[in-house]
Amino acid sequence: MRYLPLVTAASEDLRRRHQADLARILPDQVERVDWPAEQLCAERERRLRALLTTAKSKSRWHAERLRSVDPEHVSAEDLSELPVMTKDDLMAHFDDIVTDRRVTLTRAEAHLASLAGTDAYLDGEYHVVASGGSSGRRGVFVWGWDPWTLGGAVRVRQVIRDQVRCGEPPGAVVTAAVAAEVATHMTGAFASTFSTALAHRFPVTLPMEEIVAGLNRVQPVVLNAYASALALLVREVDAGRLRIRPRRVIATAEPLLPGTREAITAAWKARIANLWGTSEGATTAMGCFAADGMHLSHDNLIIEPVDEDGSPVGPGERSTKLYLTNLINPVLPLIRYEVTDEITILSEPCLCGSSMPRVADIEGRLDDMFDYGGVRVHPHVFRSPLGREPSVVEYQVRQMLTGATILMRCTGAPDLDRLRTRIVEGLRRAGVDGRSVDLRIVEHIPRQSSGKLKRFVPLELGAASSGPERA
Ligand SMILES: [Zn+2]
Repeated sequence: MRYLPLVTAASEDLRRRHQADLARILPDQVERVDWPAEQLCAERERRLRALLTTAKSKSRWHAERLRSVDPEHVSAEDLSELPVMTKDDLMAHFDDIVTDRRVTLTRAEAHLASLAGTDAYLDGEYHVVASGGSSGRRGVFVWGWDPWTLGGAVRVRQVIRDQVRCGEPPGAVVTAAVAAEVATHMTGAFASTFSTALAHRFPVTLPMEEIVAGLNRVQPVVLNAYASALALLVREVDAGRLRIRPRRVIATAEPLLPGTREAITAAWKARIANLWGTSEGATTAMGCFAADGMHLSHDNLIIEPVDEDGSPVGPGERSTKLYLTNLINPVLPLIRYEVTDEITILSEPCLCGSSMPRVADIEGRLDDMFDYGGVRVHPHVFRSPLGREPSVVEYQVRQMLTGATILMRCTGAPDLDRLRTRIVEGLRRAGVDGRSVDLRIVEHIPRQSSGKLKRFVPLELGAASSGPERA
């Protein structure tokens, strides 16, 4: 079984400790979802003051920016007076932003580049993840031990709470994750840390027959998968090849389109929740299985939806971006950090009774699958090796009959041979053999009219128009 990760004894021991920590905090985590609004508010204020105190005393970059701020007298209401920060700020000042001097961008990048299909700890403590974000520009994020546990708990607490609400025995059940292969991406990294004897992981980059065979073998009760992978799995049910009966389905990373949601309900009668994960806030929001939408991780994060100019956007209106303040991860203080996701806060209280605010399910289109003569290839085959190359700032993958052409904007000289080998190998494992990958370093990658970069351009689109702008 080639998808089983190679885990060193040392990292295996750390993983077990992390899993024990998660089990220990879960009862409190489940209760938090039903905390009254005032209690949540007090917790946020307490954590915000602690974050600002650490940032001001231990981060050179923040110390300068926060010099007129008294952390002891700041409340969430005053947040809008603090300066915002961007991914450019983060990447330009990384070493001055982090509060542990040992963690430098160079070391974080080297760690990322070394990850091979498994979880690993930097300095026995930290996780490092990279993100392209919807804008396509790369960011590097380091997570401390406890925040990583909390990020994992936000996923699990909604499942356990729903089990209790449905009168089922709460606790660990057989879980399968169809997620990123390499732990450079948040979904893959979490699945890797918290993967136990009951939790199975199937890289989304495997050929579909292998994923189906694996799922049939382990019979997951909870199925956690990319929305795009769920769309394909439902087809396998219709074809009679996938024979599982998950009770709960968690759709991650991408929008769950209405057709897929209906097909999941028809196929499995499963309870469904969407999960919105970001490298900046881990499990940023997750559904409660009782209603549409997702509850913000309100005790851990402050999310401010804003318009193009940074002015607040009210409930019911869609934002153009948001500012995220991560209250739990002081090693990398993200304070009013700009994230380019569009969200809509829902004003109606949720049927489940939680006072944690909700966001509407993330809309938009899925990253396009590439279809090579009937073999569908998930974008992760490209995303994962590209995310591991430190010098690649942004990229666009264009499907070609012969394989793919990849435009890359770089800050240095990426190892082109290594990158090409990794992608060709990924394609081969996904069932597409003998293709070539043309890597081109460019000054500029054309954008869509919205200003966003379309990262994956399938063949039909590329063939039908002069460029990717039409998407
Ligand atoms: Zn709810």
